[in-house]
Amino acid sequence: MAQAQLKQWRTVITYSDEMRRSIEKVTATRPLRVKQSFPKLKPEEKKELLAKYHPDYKPGTARKLVVGANKGEMIVNELCNVVEAYSRMNPEKADLTEIRIHTDVLVIGGGGAGAAAALAARQEDASVVLCTKLRFGDSNTMMAQGGIQAADKANDSPATHYLDIMGGGGYTNIPSLVQALVLDAPSVIEWLEELGMMFDKETDGTFVTMHGGGTSRRRMHAARDYTGAEIMRTLRDEVLNRDIQVIEFSPAVELLTDVEGSCVGAVLLNMETNEFIVVQTKKTIIATGGCGRLHPQEFPTTNHYGATADGLALAYRVGCKLAFVDTIQYHPTGVAFPELISGQLITEKMRSLGAQLVNVDGERFVNELETRDAVASAIIKECKERKKGVETPGGLVGVWLDTPLIDILKGTGRTLRLAPAMVRQFKRFGIGIINDPVLVYPSQHYQNGGVLIDESGRTNVPNLYVAGEAAGGIHGRNRLMGNSLLDILVFGRRAGKDAAQKSRAASGGKPTLNHVARFHKELKKAGITPDRRSPVLLPDYRSEEAKIEVEAFAVKGWE
Ligand SMILES: Cc1cc2nc3c(=O)[nH]c(=O)nc-3n(C[C@H](O)[C@H](O)[C@H](O)COP(=O)(O)OP(=O)(O)OC[C@H]3O[C@@H](n4cnc5c(N)ncnc54)[C@H](O)[C@@H]3O)c2cc1C
Repeated sequence: MAQAQLKQWRTVITYSDEMRRSIEKVTATRPLRVKQSFPKLKPEEKKELLAKYHPDYKPGTARKLVVGANKGEMIVNELCNVVEAYSRMNPEKADLTEIRIHTDVLVIGGGGAGAAAALAARQEDASVVLCTKLRFGDSNTMMAQGGIQAADKANDSPATHYLDIMGGGGYTNIPSLVQALVLDAPSVIEWLEELGMMFDKETDGTFVTMHGGGTSRRRMHAARDYTGAEIMRTLRDEVLNRDIQVIEFSPAVELLTDVEGSCVGAVLLNMETNEFIVVQTKKTIIATGGCGRLHPQEFPTTNHYGATADGLALAYRVGCKLAFVDTIQYHPTGVAFPELISGQLITEKMRSLGAQLVNVDGERFVNELETRDAVASAIIKECKERKKGVETPGGLVGVWLDTPLIDILKGTGRTLRLAPAMVRQFKRFGIGIINDPVLVYPSQHYQNGGVLIDESGRTNVPNLYVAGEAAGGIHGRNRLMGNSLLDILVFGRRAGKDAAQKSRAASGGKPTLNHVARFHKELKKAGITPDRRSPVLLPDYRSEEAKIEVEAFAVKGWE
């Protein structure tokens, strides 16, 4: 019966007749396109394209913060809703007398940045606790596909890498952070290899490296199309072997400060028992990742279930400065069909390998290796203004990513060898990407901005560090592929090392929630009501009618 059901289900979600007719046009134009090179956008063309079609530029997308360290500056609405929100804790009622855990360094977040920070701190002999919201490794890092950049080949240099990153970010990036990123990059690859990561290699043992959008050299290192999973496997194993206490299913719901306003720990929520756990620390590192599950402008997302910008909310309440929070990265090639997995990522690597973007008539409309903001804008233009998109039976729209070109250009078997996860993802739905193109549309992918940090991951709040996607400034207004997996490890390691070294001379003060009380006052004065609470912790996809008031978070000290 299960087989019969599966067969029927597959019939339902396979390409419609109309989509098939469009695919025939894609197939017909393919021989011509193989020989065609598509011109790159001139700077003024790119500027105009972004201004007209990139979601960041849509009027009403962002608003001014009315409280906190960035008061008066613009922030994306969905991020504003979580940073200008009341704590889930009532500072008047919370009982902080029972301190369950004392540690030198607390790492909040069990993705790549958190794991790297924990390892670096432990390396310096600090005691380390890592808490995470879901299972250790459930993260955006685990889902990363395409690769990690590092200038470690003879024809490349950190300086060239630096220029590419600055260009990709529209020259808005913070130079000192980019410098730290590119200089540490080769040693990060070495470190991963030493820990046992299996990179793709040529037969002579050198790294396979590829281009990504906006790169002037082939410097993308990968493990097939599951690079993030391989990084996470490697780091998680190492953390578990290094006497680091890992607490799963226990997100941080508030930071703690002493009377001087320095960070001295955090309150965790045990999601199984609904109890909270007070952790007192000398140094705290936020590594909570991105915001995709807030669905900016109602876009679908490539992100994991726990990506709700919790770290931003905690950091802002405690007084941290944010940077570049008025910009979000939309990945050009999120899945548009099957609708069941809409928003999931199709790695940029497919375009690096030669897959072209074509419209309903099989025509190209953009150079596929433009930066992501430009390619996403070009797809939106093609679908929304030129009406050259392909409609799905469920009413979504997208353009074709002509994946069969990869085997045609690179040789039979290349797609399966270099992107096995992609092949499998579509095969589940009866779609063979080696012979048929796939339908794509931009999907929220990356939180360009975050908490402002320095080269050691320090924030403006004493004893508090931030690393990974929760940090802002490194990539400016647009990140290039492969530089996030790099930044989480560079700044995770830097933050962990600095925190551990500085923890030797530090002593954790008495924990209070004074900063929460202060922030609540500010919110009240600004007319913001307590129905807005953060961190969000988990997205709620129930319809309004289905939302039942549950006492899920009825724990001591909460309102
Ligand atoms: C599908 C996909 C593909 C990608 N491909 C690439 C690529 O090829 N190359 C590249 O460079 N980048 C890629 N990226 C981006 C990159 O993977 C991420 O930006 C990066 O891994 C983020 O790492 P992180 O450690 O900062 O956050 P994450 O890896 O997301 O980890 C954050 C962790 O914090 C936990 N957490 C959240 N809130 C709390 C809380 N309140 N308390 C405790 N824990 C909390 C989360 O559950 C999670 O475990 C991709 C991203 C996605 C989604």
